[in-house]
Amino acid sequence: MSMIEQKRAKAFENKIKRTIERYGLIDKDDKILVACSGGKDSTVLLYILHKLGYDVEALSIDLHLGEHSSQNMDNVRRFCKKHKIRLHLFDIKKMLGKGIIELDKESRGNRSGKGGRKSRKESSICMTCGIVKRWALNRKARELKATKLATGHNLNDESETVLMNLLKGNPEIGLNMGPMTGGHRNDKSSRGFVQRIKPLYFCTNEEVREYSEYLGFSVLYEPCPHSSNVFRRKIRRELIELEKEYPGVRLRLVKNFLKLLPKLSKDYGAGKAGEKNIGVCELCGEPSRNRVCRLCSLVNKR
Ligand code: AMP
Ligand code: ZN
Repeated sequence: MSMIEQKRAKAFENKIKRTIERYGLIDKDDKILVACSGGKDSTVLLYILHKLGYDVEALSIDLHLGEHSSQNMDNVRRFCKKHKIRLHLFDIKKMLGKGIIELDKESRGNRSGKGGRKSRKESSICMTCGIVKRWALNRKARELKATKLATGHNLNDESETVLMNLLKGNPEIGLNMGPMTGGHRNDKSSRGFVQRIKPLYFCTNEEVREYSEYLGFSVLYEPCPHSSNVFRRKIRRELIELEKEYPGVRLRLVKNFLKLLPKLSKDYGAGKAGEKNIGVCELCGEPSRNRVCRLCSLVNKR
């Protein structure tokens, strides 16, 4: 690494440290599991939290999404071995008896069969994948007694999600966002969820990629080939154009959202009209607002 590269890498690490401090993301006695997909974001996050001396282990879910995901899992294995970080690797086929592609196909057939056919956009494989990942990561993190589950979401991801939620016109879906979510002690609405943290919250895609390339991490930079979320893709394209024309627009969007978040929680959060309490799914025991959680509905075709 050249001197300039070293300086930029240090500045990047400091930015993450500041986010952790400012938002109180990590306590001294936290046991952190980093949700590792094998991509650049979670690999960079794992490396930096480990470098900063936190108690971290890696948690990966093999989703069986073909060559791309098996390459990612190989990369995670090699990375953890090289840096002597404990890896917990779980296979979705062993946990659920099926991979994402199979589950998605079944749920698609199921939806159209019930007459309530959803559009291709709404029933994207990303939705199935998201439900499975959320469920598996929370379940395993809780079983492993983690106090924090860290994900590699960056500023690009967050700004896209904020804008998507606004355009969908449902302010309450943004409640579960911000640099730290879920699992707050004494908070009934998030009981059963391991607290999630996003230390890369203010880092752009480009910054993360640059750091990963400086350090020569062996990761795939291409997006998942199955990705079919048309709406997100459109928003992503628009934000790239907006950012070129109005630099800083992403950061302003996310910071404004964070300013509104306390008001959103007050108006739409736990205990407010229409907000169902969190209970447990009668089939798997995971936290759920309904009798059967979204994962079990998917797997058991209910
Ligand atoms: P994505 O939903 O693919 O945008 O990923 C967002 C974050 O979820 C990543 O930065 C990881 O922290 C985590 N993640 C995604 N896929 C996996 C996986 N297969 N195993 C563990 N964590 C994952
Ligand atoms: Zn369930």
